[in-house]
Amino acid sequence: MIVRITSKFGEVSSIHKTPHTGIDIGLNEGTPLRSVYDGVIKQVYDGSTNIGKGVKIQFKDGTEGIYGHLSEVKVKAGEMVQDGQIIGLSGNTGRSTGEHLHFALKKNGEYIDPSSIVDKTINHSWLDAFIQNGKVGQVEYFNVWEWLGGKVSEVTLNNTVDFIADFTLAFPILTVVSCSVYALINMFSKNAAKWGAIGTIIYGMMIIESG
Ligand SMILES: [Zn+2]
Repeated sequence: MIVRITSKFGEVSSIHKTPHTGIDIGLNEGTPLRSVYDGVIKQVYDGSTNIGKGVKIQFKDGTEGIYGHLSEVKVKAGEMVQDGQIIGLSGNTGRSTGEHLHFALKKNGEYIDPSSIVDKTINHSWLDAFIQNGKVGQVEYFNVWEWLGGKVSEVTLNNTVDFIADFTLAFPILTVVSCSVYALINMFSKNAAKWGAIGTIIYGMMIIESG
């Protein structure tokens, strides 16, 4: 799962003429969205307003979470929800220029920056969090896929070892598999072995992403 922040909290742009009340993340339509804490569904938006289909959840501490532009809402007003429970699917409804989730947090009537917990709207897996953000448990504006793209474009036949060494730290299992591929193909050709290992890493990353 790739998370791309398309608009930060407070941003003013051609789309957001007034400071953005939440954070937008680009998501493929149909991505399951989760409650970030225990709470109760305060409101379900039916799709007739700018926010499109969506929900407002009142969390235990009184903070409200607002999810917008969903394709489908899976909860009803008044329903209790648990931390991590799926409340709907992301989409592109309402005033939206592309598939994304608008997520906002309101505390004591004021919108606050939801960046630190926005990854919780997608899932709770540490591996997913890592793949999304390059770090576990917090959102950084670093995307492991961009990093990978940079790495691949840097790779020449002579620094493949550095490339694989970086993966040893980041993705231990992928590294073991790609090193095995390297060892096997190396019997025939050194160059084929290097690119076989890189191909294995990229293929492994694609499997992790789709999983
Ligand atoms: Zn937004």
